[in-house]
Amino acid sequence: MTKKPEEIALMAESGKLLASVFAHLDSFDLIGMSTLQVNDLVDSFIVEQLKARPASKGQYGFAYALNSSPNNVVCHGVPSATDILKSSDIVNFDITLEKNGYIADSSKTYMVGEVSAAARRLVEVSYEALWKGIKAVRPGARLGDVGHAIEQHARRHGYSVVREYCGHGIGREMHEPPQVLHWGKPKTGLVLREGMVFTIEPMINAGRDDVETQDDGWTVTTCDGQLSAQFEHTVAVTRTGVRVLTLRPGERALN
Ligand code: MN
Repeated sequence: MTKKPEEIALMAESGKLLASVFAHLDSFDLIGMSTLQVNDLVDSFIVEQLKARPASKGQYGFAYALNSSPNNVVCHGVPSATDILKSSDIVNFDITLEKNGYIADSSKTYMVGEVSAAARRLVEVSYEALWKGIKAVRPGARLGDVGHAIEQHARRHGYSVVREYCGHGIGREMHEPPQVLHWGKPKTGLVLREGMVFTIEPMINAGRDDVETQDDGWTVTTCDGQLSAQFEHTVAVTRTGVRVLTLRPGERALN
């Protein structure tokens, strides 16, 4: 389950390219764009500018370079020409990129135009929750410590953590062991070792944690219709702590 330094160097390269995709996405004026337009621009950027591959295309029969998950969509939303983004929306874009055989995975929830104070708070706390998890990663720590840190932060703000989906090991395959749960008990679960690479990607709901999959077989929504937000990074356990392989330009570690 651990990777060699040369493998992690390649994954860091993929991660850096993926970070540049988000920097590119940051420059979009999302108001009035369809999620399919966003997908197509991201797809061509990855292929033409970065000479890399959108790893989600063809994986499990998925046809797109990203998942777009607005508002009450928790994850796995499908880009669509009829899904037009408007001011007040929040929308998560989840992107995987493969270069030289190694995959990086990251997501970010964007606030489109002017969003409500409640939506902004959810987005901010979701981002903080991701970093609470990242900060718990070091050799000798356990996955339960990571999940616990995330869940505590979400609960402290009155939010819930989705339990059906989790982070995952990653490398040549998009999904490798271990499963990284976003809740848990301290001092339980897998002991982390230098060289492990996995994603942390908590889905935080404003209301209850229950989710359901829509008839398209992909789109996962909250059962109560309330908002959900998510951020994701790919991280490597280092000799002394953690390295965020998908850290974006200008992004700083949160405490
Ligand atoms: Mn992932």
